[in-house]
Amino acid sequence: MRENITQMQARHQKEIDDLQAKCKHNKISKWMDYMWAIGHFGYPVKVCEFCGKIVKQKKPTMEAYEIKDGKEILIKIK
Ligand SMILES: [Zn+2]
Repeated sequence: MRENITQMQARHQKEIDDLQAKCKHNKISKWMDYMWAIGHFGYPVKVCEFCGKIVKQKKPTMEAYEIKDGKEILIKIK
């Protein structure tokens, strides 16, 4: 019986998980923007150039302005 797309993706994910588990992550990239979907960039990450595992990431922070007493105040949302 032929594999369907879900089975094929699960098999490839297992291969990637095994590769990343055995990798010593010797060659690490510079900081780059993690793209969680095409065209959607998130927080900066460093990845292993051999297996693709994210080895470091900067936590995303959000900044927003709040108006208080008629003044704009920069606030950070964690
Ligand atoms: Zn690696």
